[in-house]
Amino acid sequence: MSEQYVCIGCGVKIQTDEREGLGYAPPSALEKEEIICQRCFRLKHYNEIQDVSLTDDDFLKILNGIGQTDALIVKIVDIFDFNGSWLPGLHRFVGKNPILLVGNKVDLLPKSVKQNKLINWMKQESKELGLKPEDVFLVSAGKGQNMKEVAEAIDHYRGGKDVYVVGCTNVGKSTFINRILKEVTGEGDIITTSHFPGTTLDIIEIPLSDGQALMDTPGIINHHQMAHFVDKRDLKVITPKKEIKPKIYQLNEGQTLYFGGLARFDYVSGGGKTSFVCHFSNELLIHRTKTENAEELYKNHAGEMLTPPRQEQMDEFPELVKQEFSIKEGKTDIVFSGLGWITINDPGIKVTAYVPKGVHVITRKSLI
Ligand code: GDP
Repeated sequence: MSEQYVCIGCGVKIQTDEREGLGYAPPSALEKEEIICQRCFRLKHYNEIQDVSLTDDDFLKILNGIGQTDALIVKIVDIFDFNGSWLPGLHRFVGKNPILLVGNKVDLLPKSVKQNKLINWMKQESKELGLKPEDVFLVSAGKGQNMKEVAEAIDHYRGGKDVYVVGCTNVGKSTFINRILKEVTGEGDIITTSHFPGTTLDIIEIPLSDGQALMDTPGIINHHQMAHFVDKRDLKVITPKKEIKPKIYQLNEGQTLYFGGLARFDYVSGGGKTSFVCHFSNELLIHRTKTENAEELYKNHAGEMLTPPRQEQMDEFPELVKQEFSIKEGKTDIVFSGLGWITINDPGIKVTAYVPKGVHVITRKSLI
């Protein structure tokens, strides 16, 4: 493209190469007098927010901008990927602005999980990561659970100010905003984008009734997300689609579980035959083997029997790195961020977890 075009909706520079990228418009759009990017097009014509991703630097610029405004910040995380969907620098940028933390995809939790325990854990983790939200909510943007409550809380905490919605890619931010749009405007109303040519490049404004606006910021890719290591076609394998059915494995010491080829769990020592309750996507294959054979099995079968990842990804797939845990208290979860967790009921057990380099494994008090 020799000439530089700018979207009349949000002011972003138009590009025609990368469909998923910021400012994409199909080449045919360039022939029109007023050029609009795909994201604004969808918002305008379908009342639908499309997910766009950004580089870290661009995102920092946006965060910086938010820090300097007086607004409510709504941060969306995926409850199955709390650490992977964390925005690392956010607490430094929010300044004095209040934050609401929203954990999405609550429809996937098994009934056995106590939601108040999950909320408490999220509060605690946030604090440790330096963020102090005004309140924490669990919602299902997909199914519409608890959305009314959050919409009300947003209205309460914003106190007449603008609202910025932030989150990593894949946490369900677009789904969340689309739901809020329905709550705010009712179905069928036309939402128009504000026209700020050349200014707030990557932020889309959705007018609220009192003249303020809800801002959708582009999602950033967090490179620690498990989803980042998985082929797009396999996301549906690791991302639960329905309520998780916990699977109980009775293991002896010296036995290993593989979760596809993405994670590994060894029961090292401690209490003889023990049950481990696995909370993962129902579609993710769990393979049991002896720990002494585990490495050989991975070498020979990763990408094939132990999948995802796929065979063709294996050259680039990061090695699984190991982390040891001594379980001091009973009822502890070993959380594989972005994948699921294993509940261990008995104290005094030693286990080892393996995940692709960069992905978080942590322990927490069981949610059951
Ligand atoms: P974004 O990248 O943060 O904008 O995320 P999207 O809104 O595109 O959603 C990412 C994926 O999560 C999609 O496959 C959605 O269908 C799914 N998703 C979003 N919200 C929910 C939810 O509340 N429950 C479930 N089960 N899936 C959801």
